[in-house]
Amino acid sequence: MLISIVAPCYNEEDVIERFHEAVQKVADDLLPLGHDMEFVYVDDGSRDRTLPLLEQLADRDPRVRYVSFSRNFGKESALLAGLRHAAGDSVVVMDADLQHPPELIRRMVELRGEGYDQVLARRSRAGDRFTRTLTARLYYRLVNRLVDVELKDGVGDFRLLSRRVVDAVLELTEYNRFSKGLFAWVGFPSTTFEYENAVREHGRSSWTLKSLLNYGLDGLLSFNNRPLRAALHLGMGLLLCAGLYTAWIVGAALVNGVETPGYVTIITAVTALAGVQMVMLGVIGEYTGRIYYEVKGRPHFLVKASNVEATDGRAPRGTKKDLIP
Ligand code: UDP
Ligand code: MG
Repeated sequence: MLISIVAPCYNEEDVIERFHEAVQKVADDLLPLGHDMEFVYVDDGSRDRTLPLLEQLADRDPRVRYVSFSRNFGKESALLAGLRHAAGDSVVVMDADLQHPPELIRRMVELRGEGYDQVLARRSRAGDRFTRTLTARLYYRLVNRLVDVELKDGVGDFRLLSRRVVDAVLELTEYNRFSKGLFAWVGFPSTTFEYENAVREHGRSSWTLKSLLNYGLDGLLSFNNRPLRAALHLGMGLLLCAGLYTAWIVGAALVNGVETPGYVTIITAVTALAGVQMVMLGVIGEYTGRIYYEVKGRPHFLVKASNVEATDGRAPRGTKKDLIP
């Protein structure tokens, strides 16, 4: 059985070589059990020496495949590229920053042997900042009430996928990708096991508050139109309240005559309604924006250099062959 390791790499010059050593060791362990391994590294337009290092690794180790993007397209695109170029019967998706302990691959392969199509590693949140843990918890609570697929806190992109899961995920060609959700959407028998989170050794997490917020919104909006529906309900609720309130003041004015001019009430009502309208417009805008990106049908990434052909024959148009050095 061939196992592909897919790792997106963005500015990982400090760790990529150690990462490769670590996965090589796993490959050596798995070889006697009849498992071959290949390593698919996707350089997501790194600005440091990640690409030259990958080229060196490929020279030294024939099992190394690399794909390098023309610019930074983001981790989701890098993951997609990795899956498209992986030939394995099973594919392990993991970060290149050694936060996903390579020793666990063996465990995943064992569980795959028991017939599971997806083996998910669920990390503890030890070592994370308290605020991030808390926001993640709250977010998953909220999101799981709203979206159709089940997303689990701590289950990231570290997982093993069977070939049929990979093929199914590659069938989903949407432009706004939220892999965690896509993997969950695909389904098939899955199992989860826990591991201790490792603290990042080098470099920094590329997640900023803003990118986390955007990622969170992607998760919310990628799976259904419930937020649109919620906006509608909110609007109707407010309309009802406004109607009751109007009836009440009119009634009061009829009974008691006109009292002090309702400055405060008017201002409050106007600002509240304006706020709600902005939110609703924003929600609609979000979906329109997504439609705009989908309609354009642009490729998810462009390849600058590579030593491997896509396995699904869906290489980005007119870029692939000519660019292989
Ligand atoms: N990554 C990427 N493109 C990006 C940002 C990150 O390919 O634009 C890769 C990065 O090299 C790493 C993985 O995605 O292998 C996870 O990134 P990071 O460690 O910054 O995120 P975190 O572990 O904090 O979720
Ligand atoms: Mg990381």
